[in-house]
Amino acid sequence: MLAVLLPVDCVGCGAPDRALCHTCRGTLAALPGRTRLVAGVRLDAAYEYEGLVRTLVLEWKLRGRVDVVAPLTDRTADLVRSALAAAPGAVVLRVPPSARGHRRRGFDPVVTVLCCAGVRRAPALRRVAVPAALPGVDRAAGTVRGGADPHGGGGGQKERTGIERVAATVGTLSAPALVAGRDVVVVDDVVTTGVTMAEAVRAVRAAGGRVVRCVAVASVEV
Ligand SMILES: [Zn+2]
Repeated sequence: MLAVLLPVDCVGCGAPDRALCHTCRGTLAALPGRTRLVAGVRLDAAYEYEGLVRTLVLEWKLRGRVDVVAPLTDRTADLVRSALAAAPGAVVLRVPPSARGHRRRGFDPVVTVLCCAGVRRAPALRRVAVPAALPGVDRAAGTVRGGADPHGGGGGQKERTGIERVAATVGTLSAPALVAGRDVVVVDDVVTTGVTMAEAVRAVRAAGGRVVRCVAVASVEV
């Protein structure tokens, strides 16, 4: 009805139907989920991050098109609920969006997912400021430690190897003290290399918690 008054194109295929057409919804429903291991923990992703899913995630994150993401949030919320069913009483933690992304968007897609899952309290891991000019400095405590990053400071993101990317991420997140002695489910929107999610797992362990499941909207195939 609304489409008659306000004609819109499907963001998936461009058909002059509605924001997400019937065909694209059917395509999404038929796509399998993805499971992989991150830092020894099972990550359940609602979708692989490619094609139509990638298009929708970008429309959501970059253009704030919340009207097209119900298929993504519904399935991800199901994964959060099943993770909590397997670990009753687990704490749900969010991977925080980048400061730049959050300023640009003004919203956090992970909050939308958790709201959809009926999770009322889900604190975010905290981003720890990393002084780029001080390689070898413990980013969490601000104290010097031996050999933290032998390649510290060198090269741009493109030139970094996987090991260097991991080294550059260690210590950039910290978990709230309430995770001590608790089971934890960590939720993020898109997992690519997995280094951020692995850092979240490390931060939870460092705070005395146990990550029992990671959940994401989408993950790249590895
Ligand atoms: Zn379509």
